[in-house]
Parts: sequence; C-alpha cells; structure tokens
Amino acid sequence: MNKPNFKDAMNRCKIATEYEDLQENYKPVFIGKKYFLRTYGCQMNVHDSEQIRSYLETLGYEECLSLEESDIVVLNTCAVRENAKDKVIGFLGRAKHLKKTKKDLIICICGCLMQEPNEVDNIQEKHPYVDIVVGTHNLHELPNLIMNRINKQSINVYSNSNQVYENVQYSRDSKISAWVNITYGCNNFCTYCIVPYTRGRERSRKPEAILNEIRGLKAAGYKEITLLGQNVNSYGKDLEEDYPFSKLLEEVAKIGIERVRFVTSNPWNFTDELIGVVAKYDNVMPYIHLPIQSGSNEVLKKMNRPYTVEEYKRLFDKIKQAVPNVAITTDIIVGFPNETEEDFQQTLDLVNYCKYDGAFTFIYSKREGTIAAKMDDKVSLEEKEDRLYRLNEVVNHYSLEKNKTYEGIEVPVLIVGESEKDSSKVYGYTETNKLVNVEAPKSVIGSIINVKITEAKSFSLDGKMIL
Ligand code: SAM
Ligand code: SF4
Repeated sequence: MNKPNFKDAMNRCKIATEYEDLQENYKPVFIGKKYFLRTYGCQMNVHDSEQIRSYLETLGYEECLSLEESDIVVLNTCAVRENAKDKVIGFLGRAKHLKKTKKDLIICICGCLMQEPNEVDNIQEKHPYVDIVVGTHNLHELPNLIMNRINKQSINVYSNSNQVYENVQYSRDSKISAWVNITYGCNNFCTYCIVPYTRGRERSRKPEAILNEIRGLKAAGYKEITLLGQNVNSYGKDLEEDYPFSKLLEEVAKIGIERVRFVTSNPWNFTDELIGVVAKYDNVMPYIHLPIQSGSNEVLKKMNRPYTVEEYKRLFDKIKQAVPNVAITTDIIVGFPNETEEDFQQTLDLVNYCKYDGAFTFIYSKREGTIAAKMDDKVSLEEKEDRLYRLNEVVNHYSLEKNKTYEGIEVPVLIVGESEKDSSKVYGYTETNKLVNVEAPKSVIGSIINVKITEAKSFSLDGKMIL
C-alpha cells in the first residue's frame, strides 16, 4: 500500500525529469464484461480518461452507459473545488448499493482527489468496498491492478513524481479534435489551488515526442489539436535544451494540422515571441484563455499570482492589437478569504475594461493543505454568492455583446457532432472557440464549413451552412 502525503507532494528540489517509454502489452482477458467510466473536472482529467478507456478496452471491456450494467466502475475524480468531491461521494453510494447484489463488481477511484491524504483515509475508513485506489502519477499501473485484483482494498498513490511517460495509448473521445499533453504538473502554488499537490512538479515532454504524436494525429485525419498543460507557456523550462513554448507552438503549426489551440496560458511568461507566433500562423486559432482570478492587486498578491492588474491589462491590450479578432476568456474567483467589497469592485472594473468573450467564474472553495485554507475568512457565503451573481451579470452581458457582433456574418466552423437537443442540427466551433448550432446535414461532421450566423445567444450562436 502507498498512501499520499502533502509534504512529499510539495517537494520541488531540482531532480531532472526522467523519461520512460511505457511497454504495454495487455491481453483482452475480460471479453464480454462492461465498464462504466465517469470523469469529473478539467480537460486534463478528460484526457486522462482517454488513457483509462484505452486500458479498459485493451483488457477486453466494452463501455456501457449505465452503472447497473457494468462489471467495473472507474471514477476519475477532481479536487479543485469541494463540490467536485461531493459528487464523487454521492455516486459512490450508488456503486456500493449495486455491489450488494453484484459481488464481483470492481470499483476503482483515481484522479486528483485520490492524491489528497484525507480523502484516501476517508475511502479506507468509510468506503472499504472500493477495490482499487490509484493516483495521478501511476495511472499506467491501472491494468495490472485490475488483473491482479486482490480481495482487499488496494491503495497505490505516490506523492512525488519527476517522471514523464511516453507511448501512452489513448482511446480518444473524438476522431476530429484531440488533446495533446505538453507539460504535467505545476510549480506555481497559487495559495488557493490544490493542483500542485495533486499533479506534482512541472515536467515538460520532449519536443520530438510531442511533434511525433501530432504528426500521427494529422495522418489519422484529426482536424484540430489542443496543447494541454497547467501553464503551457512555462513549457521547456525544465528541458536541457533551450526550447520555449513559442518555438514548440511554431513547430506544431508547421505540421499543418488545420487548427491548433493551447490551454492554459497564464499571464506570466506570455512572451512577445508567443504573441508573434499566434499572430503569424493562420492555423493557430485566435483564441486565448487568460485567467486573471481577481481584479485587485491586494488579492492577487495573497493568491501568489505573480502579476499586477496593470501588467495584465498591458498584456491583454498587446494580444488584442497583435491578433486580429482574437477572443479572450478568463477565470475569476470571488470570495477569496477576506476579499473586500472594494476588491470585488476592482474585479468588476477589470471585466468592464476587458469585455471578455467569456469567463469561468467560481466562488472560492477552501482546499485543505493549501496556504489559503489557513487564512481566516470573515466574508459570509451569502456575500460570496451575491458577488458571484453580480459578476455573472456583467460577464454574461459582454459575452452576449461579443456574440452579437457575429450576427449576419459568415465564419468557418469545425463541425464536431450532432446536436443533442435538435437532431436536424449539428454543432461545432468557430476559430474563436464559439459554440455554433448549425442547420446542416450530418455528413459535414468532421469538416470545416462556412456558416452564416443567424442569431447570437449568451453562450452560443445559431447559424446556417453556406453552400
Ligand atoms: N492552471 C490554470 C491557471 O492557472 O489558470 C488553472 C487550473 S484550475 C484547474 C482552473 C481554475 O479553477 C483556476 O483558474 C481557478 O479559477 C479555479 N480554482 C482553482 N482552485 C480553486 C479554488 N480553491 N476555489 C475556487 N476556484 C478555484
Ligand atoms: Fe493552480 Fe496556479 Fe498552478 Fe494554475 S498556476 S494550476 S491556478 S497553482
């Protein structure tokens, strides 16, 4: 048994990143059995689930969409906010109930929540019916843990990793658009955030491995790739060679895949060279997610975000100037410990300045083990909810205003699927990452088509295909 601890997870002493090729050769020993996989959280987890799916399918399992049909349940968890945990625990109750009648059901939990010592203790003490607990650093051990399942709970979570695994197999959700990891982990330790503890130190994949993966995706017909990392613009800082993110992005663009995106780029390390590459290549999409978190310098300092509002605005303006029609979105937290009404007003001022295309807005959630969790907090939940409500009013106003500028114009849209609400429609994304519901035949799924926008809403656009 290996249980996590935050002391090791915080260790950032300079150990060189080690690269290891996964030599995986599993046999389909569970033919006829079914798996149910549920994913919580961000794009990283969604992409990790593509790795989990590949393992389960290689072992012979087939996916099913109802828990009751399944022979193995895998929950890929998130730890960023408390409510993500509540959902997992709620779901576990259902799985426990099922196991009473289906004794051979295997229940497995992995992902960020399992990197938290308290949560692993909780599973051990209150949920002994869970069979397998595996952490974010050793997901590749999952197939062996399933094959060699023992009749008692097995917990395999490591806290520190300087490892990057290559040759990971993915069973991707989409045949059109793919995620590609470029970095793992984070070294920033924003005081509210659990990610540096659950995902470990920042490690970059080698450029050639990334470029080869993307060449393979292009050859397989993918139209879009999104480079993934907690802070993509610190890519390469741990590599021996001088290889900044701007250079990687340029090399990726040259491969010639139709659309290249990246997420998340933080407001620090966002160099002029990087802006230059985004502006220069038509296939690097004019869309940047640039999290601000707060419009108050006081709060930013307490959050350990290494920039000021003034620096952020300068960067924001520079990107707007250099990249025509760029869309910029952000993340904002309200109710950080002792955020004053004046701090909050400064956040509203910043949103009024940037007029974002969109924003993910959150109420601060206390995460045990982080620095902010020790700060005393006099702001009531009621006040925080009121701030979130007021913030969303302003954010949504600008989203709609931005979307309205698309009405009547023609834009290229990459169609990725059939609309769930209306089977006569398909849906896709503009270059600026706006969701569009389009009247068009299903045969256009996977193509970039020209669409005339007929109506703008706050969170999506409607349009018609132009022949
Ligand atoms: N690495 C990315 C960055 O720095 O912007 C973000 C990763 S985090 C998974 C996504 C977002 O969750 C953050 O930008 C932040 O707004 C939000 N978040 C993280 N910790 C939070 C917390 N304790 N409470 C509320 N929101 C949080
Ligand atoms: Fe969390 Fe900050 Fe790292 Fe983003 S940069 S993952 S918010 S610690």
